[in-house]
Amino acid sequence: MTHTEPDYEFNYFTNDAHRAQVKEAIDSAVALLPWWVRRVIVQDQGLNGDAAMSVSVQPNYRHIVLSVYPGFYDSTEQERARYVRHELCHVLLAPLTEWVRERLIAPLEYAEPRLYEYLQQEFIARLECVTEDLAIGRVAK
Ligand SMILES: [Zn+2]
Repeated sequence: MTHTEPDYEFNYFTNDAHRAQVKEAIDSAVALLPWWVRRVIVQDQGLNGDAAMSVSVQPNYRHIVLSVYPGFYDSTEQERARYVRHELCHVLLAPLTEWVRERLIAPLEYAEPRLYEYLQQEFIARLECVTEDLAIGRVAK
């Protein structure tokens, strides 16, 4: 089964070259996008973040929001493609990871704050390892 390309929306980009770099990196990894993503919203954050890129997954609206930080533009083409693959692997894993976060971990926040903190840290550490392993292995052909 093939699926059609999603719509793209680029927000807050003031530099056309930066916008082109982001689109090129997304194009190189677009095969990883799950079928339900109908719109990819890309935002140039301008400010430095902890990462070069992050993603927010909103399945109810059939869209994802990719946030791009200045570190992205200081990277090589190969690194930029890997950043996008990493974020799109988060999107693929989201049905599982969002359920764990919302149904298993979040309810403990006030009842068991120490357990909540522990599970939160352990879950994120393992999730990032698995996501990066998937991203490294998924070099688009
Ligand atoms: Zn990540």
